[in-house]
Amino acid sequence: MSKDWKAATKAVHAGTRRSQYGEVSEAIFLTQGFVYDSAEHAEQRFIASGEDEFIYARYGNPTVKMFEERIAALEGAEDAFATASGMAAVSGALTSMLRAGDHVVSARALFGSCLYVLEEILSRYGVEVTFVDGTDLAQWEAAIRPDTKAVFFESISNPTLEVVDIEAVSKLAHAKGALVLIDNVFATPVYSRAFSQGADVVIYSATKHIDGQGRALGGVILGSREFIRKTVEPYMKHTGGSMSPFTAWIMLKGLETIGLRVRAQTATALAVAQALEGHAGLEQTIYPGLGSHPQNPLVQAQMGAGGTVLALDIKGGKEVAFKVLNALQIGLISNNLGDTKTILTHPATTTHQRLPDAQKASLGITPGLVRVSIGLEDADDLIADFLQALDAAR
Ligand SMILES: *Cc1c(COP(=O)(O)O)cnc(C)c1O
Repeated sequence: MSKDWKAATKAVHAGTRRSQYGEVSEAIFLTQGFVYDSAEHAEQRFIASGEDEFIYARYGNPTVKMFEERIAALEGAEDAFATASGMAAVSGALTSMLRAGDHVVSARALFGSCLYVLEEILSRYGVEVTFVDGTDLAQWEAAIRPDTKAVFFESISNPTLEVVDIEAVSKLAHAKGALVLIDNVFATPVYSRAFSQGADVVIYSATKHIDGQGRALGGVILGSREFIRKTVEPYMKHTGGSMSPFTAWIMLKGLETIGLRVRAQTATALAVAQALEGHAGLEQTIYPGLGSHPQNPLVQAQMGAGGTVLALDIKGGKEVAFKVLNALQIGLISNNLGDTKTILTHPATTTHQRLPDAQKASLGITPGLVRVSIGLEDADDLIADFLQALDAAR
């Protein structure tokens, strides 16, 4: 592979390993283990495995390796470790590097399960977590201490679409010696420039745009070779959150089309947001790509686009929001995002249901808020569907 290849070329060729048959489409090595030529050879592999030498699928597998190398090439990372789900990646990245007594600073606006890991699990093991408003640099500066080991945030938060300034927060973190870990799901590998903006570790739920077709759960942790092989790999391979070879194949094939899909979905998301903004049935149309979004200049500088997800705050709260959801004929009521199919989620009653009402309110998860992940359908069809559903609900 050439380092000078552009993203579209890397997306279809990077990381390819061919067997003796010279297959065009990447092979699925559906095997847990690998045979050694001799006892001496087995001993040697356990001391140090070479590039194409594998031991056990929990440690590594040729199909999984292809996915790791392809996503690392796309993201501009030295190395990557693929995991069984996005949450295995988030929890693995954090727990592999932290120990009792450590301090972490995290943005408050997070996906429900990320919040659970930071709020409930880490504290159980003696890690102190300080939560801040991710959009307020003064709060980050005040919270990061000399003993802070890591800062964590979603570059665009789920589901309220707050944008965190990667470059500015990274500068504050690095000044105190803390690592910057970013859950970059909403930015997608297509728009991410997180490493050049200061990230040390980038995490994706591959379930979202990387598969992008609702078929499989997966995740990936990207970072320096040192961090991935010395910190993440020993933790993941011994605790068991590795990606299956079959999933890795799905994700490899997903990467081949991710640029086309995400750009098309983003263009439609902008068209839908523009068409619905100011609608009498809406309190607010939240989309980072709209000029009315408070961090629109930041998202344009950081990603160059607003992404594939918007949020609608529907007037009339839960009752009307449910009516709108139930009246849609194209958008599906579900909870994935980044899919080819448009999917709507009511966070207050699903992904963020467990949070107390006061916490929901402080995060902007209002009773009328609906998260909309835009798919590959025709933009005009989607706009007409939203307009008829908003009318039907009034
Ligand atoms: C979905 C999601 C996750 C979790 O990923 P899974 O693959 O479902 O485990 C983590 N963070 C964000 C921002 C997500 O949207």
